[in-house]
Amino acid sequence: MNMADYQLTKDVMHVGEMASGAKLTVPVYRFKGKSNAQSVYIQANMHGAEVQGNAVIYQLLEQLRDLKILGDITLVPYANPVGCNHKNGEYTLGRFDPITGVNWNRMYHNNPELISPIVEQYLDAPASDIEAVFKQALLDDITEQLDHNIFGLTTGQRIAYQLQKLAHQADIVLDLHTGPISSKHLYCPEYAKESASFFNIEHTLLIPNEFDGALDEATFCPWWSLTEAFADKGRKLLLDKESFTVELGSQEQIDLDVALVDAKSILTYLQHKGVIAGGDFVPDVMTRYACYLADYKAFYSPMGGMVDYLAAFGKPLPAGEPLARILRMDNYGDGDALHYISLDKEVIPILHFASASVNQGTELYKVFSDFFEL
Ligand SMILES: [Zn+2]
Repeated sequence: MNMADYQLTKDVMHVGEMASGAKLTVPVYRFKGKSNAQSVYIQANMHGAEVQGNAVIYQLLEQLRDLKILGDITLVPYANPVGCNHKNGEYTLGRFDPITGVNWNRMYHNNPELISPIVEQYLDAPASDIEAVFKQALLDDITEQLDHNIFGLTTGQRIAYQLQKLAHQADIVLDLHTGPISSKHLYCPEYAKESASFFNIEHTLLIPNEFDGALDEATFCPWWSLTEAFADKGRKLLLDKESFTVELGSQEQIDLDVALVDAKSILTYLQHKGVIAGGDFVPDVMTRYACYLADYKAFYSPMGGMVDYLAAFGKPLPAGEPLARILRMDNYGDGDALHYISLDKEVIPILHFASASVNQGTELYKVFSDFFEL
């Protein structure tokens, strides 16, 4: 493959150093768009075990070579070189920085103080000027954090902020993750729910304007807050910025065939946004369910034991139907060896714990409650 034939360039971004001096790097692939259509940033594998996004990026690169690309597209597989290589026995850990214990996807940066000076200074300015000025403010702010933070940054912040600097340059951000053992689902800001129907994903979580340290929030909350601040002053701004966390299924798995299906799902959305030309991609007809983040419930195991997970993902589970049965061989013969676990309300199971052995209080399932059709 000659990358130049496809307007594809590759850089290697230096995101940190190990004790031995070995460099931590991530590859950055870029397509240059043929017009000034919306630009896109896609990354994968911020959590070490969530590897399937790398396969989706591979399939996106393969597909994009043959498509007319109108907006700039940046793709970053292996976004977290520490998490990616963080093995313990047969398993990849890589959800938390092993030194600080902080979740790798809670280290991005948000600065609400950027907003009010722009509202004051640009209240009557054209929307395109406001957009350009605020985008530059976000980039300057993250650059300042990276280069002039006198007390330094943690390993994870240094990685996250450099990724965020790439993400702030784009109009559309997709962060590719997976659950532990999981169905596909999409984290979508509430204002962008129409766009969720262009992904071939049956389950959408609608998330509020609250920053909790994740990349999707770090890239949509500032724009959402900016439009709200302008609205408070009577100015209606329509800024077309969207960020999603795409949960591709289960961790510790690569499936290139499924990755092609998911790459086409992403291309369907990008075609809808005008990033790629043509009409080749049509969203699948499916029942799409959504729930608000507050109604996305973790169900904690009421007891320790060995779990036989029974509830199928993605389909409404009536109240009283079993989620799982828990085996307790210590009770066999003189107690109950088998316990059925159910909920008193209808839910849609989305994911469950990766192991069959659980302590009392382990997060057993995550479920949509009070769900509705999108
Ligand atoms: Zn993740």
